Amino acid sequence: MALAKADLHAHTWFSDGQDSPEVLVARAKAAGLDLLAVTDHDTLSGIDETVEKGRAAGLEIVPGIEFSAHFKNVEVHIVGLGVAHHDAVFRRVVAEYTAAREERARKMVERLKTLQVRISFDRVKAIAGPGVVGRPHVAQALFETGAVASFNEAFKRYIGRQGPAYVPKLALAPERAIQVIHRAGGVAVLAHGLAGGVGRDHVIAVAEMGLDAVEVVHPKFTEADQAWLRDFAEQKGLALSGGSDWHGEGWSEGEIGKFTVGAEAVKSLRARREMIYNAIQVGS
Ligand code: AMP
Ligand code: ZN
Ligand code: FE
Ligand code: FE
Repeated sequence: MALAKADLHAHTWFSDGQDSPEVLVARAKAAGLDLLAVTDHDTLSGIDETVEKGRAAGLEIVPGIEFSAHFKNVEVHIVGLGVAHHDAVFRRVVAEYTAAREERARKMVERLKTLQVRISFDRVKAIAGPGVVGRPHVAQALFETGAVASFNEAFKRYIGRQGPAYVPKLALAPERAIQVIHRAGGVAVLAHGLAGGVGRDHVIAVAEMGLDAVEVVHPKFTEADQAWLRDFAEQKGLALSGGSDWHGEGWSEGEIGKFTVGAEAVKSLRARREMIYNAIQVGS
């Protein structure tokens, strides 16, 4: 059967998604997907289980990751697809970012305390469950204690980028994210470029750093964004990728199954991956 629908960007509860690997796979199957990439933020912990559930359900899973890089004044997200998630060096690098996120969440809890807002770090951890800790978990804890009336208010008043309790993530340069992904045999993809304050000049500069592909399908894109990114990819000889960036019901801007790329994009991503993979020595 020819591959028709691939979603190459999705999260589980191992980062800030809501779905277990099993639920994610079931959703993807129900939505008619042929291929799904699991791309949790700063962690590889959900991959094995997702691959296993995918195998049981007859859905192929691409092991992936999403890194947040800092570039100029914006956050640029870089997805790695087809990464060797058992490679020891890669795991060690990723573990540093996982640990740094925990440290950062602790700092946010401390800052909140100086603002007379008390939440416990243990509660934040418990909300994150098996996942790496992020601001959504801090927001949930703030909401639970009644410090804010809604999840969104937590960002507006405290932990949004301009908020008094905001602490940035460990700074990772885009070059380094790309290098780490390549070292793990993966394809480096610019996620939702042109969204969240990322401008065309940022995309152009990051592409020069060795990107392999750009997302041209994402729920945050306007049609104009899509058209520009497609043209840009063609000009620069970059492969195309895309997906739903699924985080869970009510936590996602796009429905799973509605933001997909086709066989041609997958083929070109795979060809690139093979080149990278063959050029390095990857642990199994
Ligand atoms: P982190 O990676 O820990 O900085 O958390 C980023 C996540 O927080 C994003 O993926 C969103 O899910 C969520 N988020 C960021 N800003 C806002 C906001 N203003 N309102 C609601 N959710 C937000
Ligand atoms: Zn996320
Ligand atoms: Fe992202
Ligand atoms: Fe994402």
